[in-house]
Amino acid sequence: MRRVHLLATGGTIASRHGPDGLAAVTPAEELLAAAGAHPGVTVTTSDLGTVGSFAFTTSDLRGLVAEARRCLGRGVDGVVVTQGTDTMEESAYLADLVHDDPRPIVFTGAQRPFDAAAPDGPANLADALLVAASPAARDLGALLCFDGLVFAARGVRKVETLRSGAFAAPGRGPVLRLAAASVLPLGRPVRPAAMPLDLAADLPRVDVVACYLGVDGSLMHAAVAAGATGLVLEAFGAGNVTPAVAEAAEELIARGIPVLVCSRVPSGPVEPLYATGGARLARAGAVFAGDLSPWQARLLLAAALALAPDDPRRVLADRLAV
Ligand code: ASP
Repeated sequence: MRRVHLLATGGTIASRHGPDGLAAVTPAEELLAAAGAHPGVTVTTSDLGTVGSFAFTTSDLRGLVAEARRCLGRGVDGVVVTQGTDTMEESAYLADLVHDDPRPIVFTGAQRPFDAAAPDGPANLADALLVAASPAARDLGALLCFDGLVFAARGVRKVETLRSGAFAAPGRGPVLRLAAASVLPLGRPVRPAAMPLDLAADLPRVDVVACYLGVDGSLMHAAVAAGATGLVLEAFGAGNVTPAVAEAAEELIARGIPVLVCSRVPSGPVEPLYATGGARLARAGAVFAGDLSPWQARLLLAAALALAPDDPRRVLADRLAV
């Protein structure tokens, strides 16, 4: 008999309609009951909270990841975390950054609430339990299981607001898929070594600044004035920015603020190509974050700053090289 622990935190999978809108109120035991039989797997449960993931703070996220890791300590084959889909790609990524165990932590949730006429949560949870118990999910790190597909944490993104196929890993694809009661391997992600991050300690503030036609550098300066010790640029295309943003990046990098460059395009890596765009950022010392989303890159930069406040670029280089 395989053993899996289910840790519930809220989200749409746990939500019911109320007078003011949807509210995440359903505890783990009820979610598990709705998921139906799970032959060959013994499931234990616990509740961390019943909130929407859009309300998580970075400190909540650290607590969630620490708790999921404690649940692995219960001698199980894997852990399933249910949470809201809005920030699931961030939770899975932070869990993955520190994951040093062959057993998986599998995130899942739903697009339709628990009391919908045809909820998708029960099937997603049943799949996630199967994946967490499966030998095929070992050594893949933290995973995100949704709508019959399983994605590695790095590179996964929410790509649909309401339809049940909420997630994709653009340019990478899923690593496993569910076929009735089996888990089919599709690919094995290359995973860098776990980061020795202290989840009990605050993460340094890192803000994401979006690029749009004509944007200037004032939000970048405002972020630093508000306490950001690093910035992620959600740049155009393959990593280009307006001249004003490039100028602000030059000033801030010279003042010791690391700048990580991502794209507002959902698929493909960033590269310093254009003399007055991305290449100007690279000349100033900005770091290009491959195909990481700005939200995952933000966590990576915060972790790098926590581990090496004086030289986060070294940590970033190691992590981004793989
Ligand atoms: N739409 C979200 C969900 O799927 C709400 C949240 O992130 O909690 O659960």
